[in-house]
Amino acid sequence: MAGWMQILVSAAAGLFVLAVLLAAATAWVQERRYRRDRQQNAGWIAPAPRSAPGAPDSVATPAGAPPAGNPVRRARRPLVAVNPYEGEGHYVPVQLHAHTTRSRDGAVEPEAVAAQYAAAGFAALALTDHDQVTLLPPGQVPAGLTLIPGEEDTVIEPVWPLGRHMVRLFVAAPNRPASPQGRIDQTCTAGGLACMAHPHWPGGLGSGRWLYPELSALRGYHLMEIHSRFSITDEDVALWHRLLATRGPENPLWCVASDDFHRPDHLGWGWIMVKTGASGQPPSLEVLKRALRSGAFYATSGPLVRFGLEGLRVEAEAAAGQASRGMVFRFLDAAGQVRKSAHGGGALELEGDEGFVRVEAEDTRTGRRAWSQPFWVRMARSRHA
Ligand SMILES: [Zn+2]
Ligand SMILES: [Zn+2]
Repeated sequence: MAGWMQILVSAAAGLFVLAVLLAAATAWVQERRYRRDRQQNAGWIAPAPRSAPGAPDSVATPAGAPPAGNPVRRARRPLVAVNPYEGEGHYVPVQLHAHTTRSRDGAVEPEAVAAQYAAAGFAALALTDHDQVTLLPPGQVPAGLTLIPGEEDTVIEPVWPLGRHMVRLFVAAPNRPASPQGRIDQTCTAGGLACMAHPHWPGGLGSGRWLYPELSALRGYHLMEIHSRFSITDEDVALWHRLLATRGPENPLWCVASDDFHRPDHLGWGWIMVKTGASGQPPSLEVLKRALRSGAFYATSGPLVRFGLEGLRVEAEAAAGQASRGMVFRFLDAAGQVRKSAHGGGALELEGDEGFVRVEAEDTRTGRRAWSQPFWVRMARSRHA
């Protein structure tokens, strides 16, 4: 009997040591991948300069390599710029990433999560529990709130629960196991939208990171989270910017901020402001999906702003009724250069060599920020071409 016990204990100890060694090896491999990716990204684009709260703004120009593709010289032909915020409409707050008690790590019941977002004035909410779609009976959805069906898919690698996370929106059922591209394809086939979640999240022994080489090879996803409870925001923004420049305007990739809500104090960390045509009524799923596909929204961790295009001027200012004091708006081009830094609000006249322009707004008193989607710039086709 004692002999058997000894063998069992030794076997358990051996298994434990093996598991620890495997975990250490996984963490080591993931860390190496990440370091290599960082080295390759270094110098390509520096994160946009930030002001210390209360400090005067610096108009530093980050050292950036040239943008991808052929550099365009000064405008000799008419310019065309694409405005994702075109058309009439008003903005409503939308939360695209929230967990409930159906997730192992969620602390709030589904009905209570919906009630809290409705009370905070949100027009739409996606409950995105891990690897399952959480729905509420119609009677339990608060008035004025549109519930977007979704889930947070674990892109398992090497073994569950390790892997990267992908938020899937407008889907009725969780993904079946597949490769990352297969999981995106399933989402598209189901009529959904895929959002790469917290790309630099170091969780899952480092297996939670989406890195540039993989993201640049994947096709069919439209959204990327750049700010959430589990984001490393500056790195995520830089990664998004690099992907924008290499994917080009034909493969749009829009930025998202979210709470990644797990507990009540997570509410208000980040969200998006979606431009919807209708007023009064909560936006329909169709209206929301169209806006999320076309980039008619911006990401924010607090500031409410207005981004727009008037002729060939990209404009940015505080939203109506919002204080503009302390607000700085930075206009960045595709190479990551700050073309203009404007206090309180301003506009950038396009010259034609920007590739795209995106605007970061910062409340220098709180450090909170808002991010526009890119305004793509190109020469109009010559009439004789
Ligand atoms: Zn996640
Ligand atoms: Zn999450």
